[in-house]
Amino acid sequence: MIKLLLLVLLFFVGYSFIQTLFPSRSKGPKSSDNAKPEGEQMVLDPQCGTYIPLSESVKANIQGQQHYFCSRKCRSQFKKKH
Ligand SMILES: [Zn+2]
Repeated sequence: MIKLLLLVLLFFVGYSFIQTLFPSRSKGPKSSDNAKPEGEQMVLDPQCGTYIPLSESVKANIQGQQHYFCSRKCRSQFKKKH
């Protein structure tokens, strides 16, 4: 019987934990037009291997592929290689 109580307790703790991880979805999944979301998408700079926030990256379309760089320097270096 005590085991069952523990299970229920664990379930409850787990459930409230999930609730804190995923707060109410009433805001809608795509409210990205809010001022700077904390979970901003990070993109990889293929030149130096640094991750940069998408909004701060230098974008370039090279051979039909979209690439993101931390700086213009990296972009031009990458372009030289390709
Ligand atoms: Zn870079």
